[in-house]
Amino acid sequence: MKRRDLLKYISITPLAGASIVGGITSANATPLAVAAGRDLFAELGVRTFINAAGTYTAMTATLMRPATVEAIRQASHKFCMLDEIQDKVGERLAEITKAESVVVTSGAFAALTLGMAGILTGLDPVKVKQLPKLEGTGMKTEVICQKAHAIGYNQALTNTGVKVIMIETVEELKNAINKNTAAMHFLHVQSDKGKIQHEEWVAIGKQYGIPTTIDIAADVPPVSNLWRFNEMGFDFVAISGGKALRGPQSAGLLMGKKDLIKAARLSMPPRGETIGRGMKVNKEEILGMLVAVEEFVKIDHDAEALVFLERIKKIQAAAMSVPGVSTTITTPVLGNVTPTLNITFDYSKISKTGEALKLELRNGNPSIEVVGGKDNIGITAWSLQEGEDKIVAKRLKEILEGAKV
Ligand SMILES: *Cc1c(COP(=O)(O)O)cnc(C)c1O
Repeated sequence: MKRRDLLKYISITPLAGASIVGGITSANATPLAVAAGRDLFAELGVRTFINAAGTYTAMTATLMRPATVEAIRQASHKFCMLDEIQDKVGERLAEITKAESVVVTSGAFAALTLGMAGILTGLDPVKVKQLPKLEGTGMKTEVICQKAHAIGYNQALTNTGVKVIMIETVEELKNAINKNTAAMHFLHVQSDKGKIQHEEWVAIGKQYGIPTTIDIAADVPPVSNLWRFNEMGFDFVAISGGKALRGPQSAGLLMGKKDLIKAARLSMPPRGETIGRGMKVNKEEILGMLVAVEEFVKIDHDAEALVFLERIKKIQAAAMSVPGVSTTITTPVLGNVTPTLNITFDYSKISKTGEALKLELRNGNPSIEVVGGKDNIGITAWSLQEGEDKIVAKRLKEILEGAKV
């Protein structure tokens, strides 16, 4: 591509050159991608879309910030030892997150599995090889969890061979603790539904000498959650890199006590003959994760939340201009803490279901992804790029107008 053509190309590519508002810009519109002269999505016929839904794994979760993409690019030019880069990045991340130690994992799910592995094996290389077989090895076999905290992601724990024991009350918890208890696991996003809160969970763990663990995968913002649970004394804390942190989708962090992280790493590459050999992170993801966290703690989260709210309000106003449409904006207190627009319909005035309207948004041009059930549409702004709120508002209004009875 000649420079002149390149400039022309940039000027007709709406996202290239978009200004950064609230730290939101498009990662796939960097000059590098343009200079390569290829649009791989178009070439492959892969549908891309405006993400008005949120950080969903199936939708590839998040766009990395430019500084994170640059870290990945830099990393791709040099060799280093995998353990050394984990050591050094871990030290930096430990300072930021106030954990004793940190390791970059292939997502929060892997962090849960590897952290659990570390608790079970300690520093014993024989036990590391034996996982997920626990019987007859001398390893403990049970993890205690509150009933309200039982979610599918707990499979990350049971992948190590442990069994999850459900309890509800403090009394049940104390009765459930026995010589086979390996850990007490907590799920932050459901903490309001459980009878036992974080501090008490940690205190009982300490009293009985049982490690306490916590899944905070989708729980920043607030940014303080990056260190809150480390400071509280949980033995390990698992978080996603590919959600609001905007790191590589395939990365996450395992934070925790020094010996536990050391033990967890025995089950991680480059070591083979481990349950974690397939949970590899490369140097690009490791450096990308470091920079993603550095950027995340630097940005003005209040200002960003305001930008998100303004965008959501613009979409809300467009939807509300059509008779028969009701909306609410709420910000969840726990997990995915971002202004969330919920749209419902009076079917005597709107002739199509929420489901049908969602399909129209998906099949339009540009394609727009939202969430919700059969009768509602859910929208968040944290994955919207500069200017996309207007596009979503306009399309939504058009589609709703077209659905009037
Ligand atoms: C997203 C999520 C996970 C999995 O995180 P990954 O980084 O995708 O592996 C685990 N637990 C909870 C509560 C989550 O929301």
